[in-house]
Amino acid sequence: MNPIRIGILGYGNLGRGVELACAANPDTQLVGVFTRRDPATVHPYGENVAVWSADELAAHTGDIDVLVLAGGSATDLPEQTPAAAALYNVVDSFDTHANIPEHFAAVDAAAREAGHVAVISVGWDPGMFSVSRVYAGAIMPNGADYTFWGRGVSQGHSDAIRRIPGVVDARQYTVPVPAALEAVRSGANPDLTTRQKHTRECFVVAADGADTAAIEEAIVTMPNYFADYDTTVTFVSQEELDRDHAGIPHGGSVIRTGTTGAAGENTHVIEYSLKLDSNPEFTGSVLVACARACARMAAAGETGCRTIFDIAPALLSPLTPEVLRATML
Ligand code: NDP
Repeated sequence: MNPIRIGILGYGNLGRGVELACAANPDTQLVGVFTRRDPATVHPYGENVAVWSADELAAHTGDIDVLVLAGGSATDLPEQTPAAAALYNVVDSFDTHANIPEHFAAVDAAAREAGHVAVISVGWDPGMFSVSRVYAGAIMPNGADYTFWGRGVSQGHSDAIRRIPGVVDARQYTVPVPAALEAVRSGANPDLTTRQKHTRECFVVAADGADTAAIEEAIVTMPNYFADYDTTVTFVSQEELDRDHAGIPHGGSVIRTGTTGAAGENTHVIEYSLKLDSNPEFTGSVLVACARACARMAAAGETGCRTIFDIAPALLSPLTPEVLRATML
């Protein structure tokens, strides 16, 4: 079998994660990386990986089976994914949950018109967490859903702190409240406020002479980001931030608790949990498994947009259906 030829559009944290995942899957081969920056300034790990300008996207349709989009959800993917779906089978990790239906419609129209398959919004949330929610809800109609994130770095909250005057650099961790997690895992179906579910830990590098009390006040009272949470602020040096907080860990738990029995007397707890040393490397690994499914759906003559809900588990696996039946059931 020839390997699935993969291209990557956008080479940031996630692009590097996709490259590493291709190297870990012998049935995939990374052919090239497209970037909007000067290609001479972008250096993939693999020496044989070509780097092309994103302006040349249309020139390599014969070289690539699936293009994995690794741009940002805020402004890159809403434009890039529909445009790329006109040229390639595509996979993206679009994670602005509220806008997924709109994104799906735009990508679906482009993919159908061009006869391609597009898989959108895969990763861990949306992605693997979404699958867990659907399975748990289908199995246990009488119950409640809970999602806890962390302990992990929130890029958006770290950026929000960096925009405060006097802040040089920052890292923000989202942390689940242990007592809330335990209450949910006990099957008690508690009603929890935002503040009761997560805390936020901020590590901040302040400029020389900056008013640290004012910075702390600006952080803990910031609407939408911190005001609804118990937030701690720790000032550190740039060296300490670089030494102790350089990684991009994340994870969390999706839990559904519910009951069965004539009087609801039996309680069940379903939990899917992730502890990720590297958010982009894990997300890239999910994208490559979905690229395999995308190539298979395209080979079967399918067209249009899909989410993780539309992909049968066997399509994601490098193992044959025969081996899966013999070893995984
Ligand atoms: P980055 O900011 O690292 O990269 C985004 C884009 O920025 C790159 O594709 C790159 O495009 C561009 N870029 C510009 N300048 C640079 C530079 N100097 N170095 C690196 N890249 C640069 O974002 P991430 O890769 O961390 O995340 C991408 C998206 O992945 C997020 O927006 C998020 O939506 C999504 N995601 C989804 C998850 C899920 O579970 N579904 C989980 C984690 C992330 P170019 O090469 O064209 O310049």
